[in-house]
Amino acid sequence: MSKKVLVIDDSPFVFKAVSKALEGTDWEVAGHGLDGQLGIEKYIETRADVITLDVTMPVMDGLEAAKKLFEINPKVKIIMLSAMGDETLLNQARTIGIKHFLTKPFQPATLQAKLAEAFE
Ligand SMILES: [Mg+2]
Repeated sequence: MSKKVLVIDDSPFVFKAVSKALEGTDWEVAGHGLDGQLGIEKYIETRADVITLDVTMPVMDGLEAAKKLFEINPKVKIIMLSAMGDETLLNQARTIGIKHFLTKPFQPATLQAKLAEAFE
């Protein structure tokens, strides 16, 4: 059975890049949330194995969404996708409990390795 990843990102480009990077792997894209709030709804619906979470999004940003996701499931597996190495932001994310990070743009193999790391 394939493992499911939920993409929470306001960029359709990132959603496409993740989908493309996972073609032919044992990962399946379970859904796409275009902002933090919609992403949480998608998580409740799909209970995806791993979430890729953008930081900057309308309505609810990635840090706020991560807090809520950890409330829903303390063991939720999140990979935070960030565009730049903003140390303050990354430290805030670590404080919330996020352990996995990926810088955009990413190589398919790097995403696959991160998913495996987060899933285990
Ligand atoms: Mg964004």
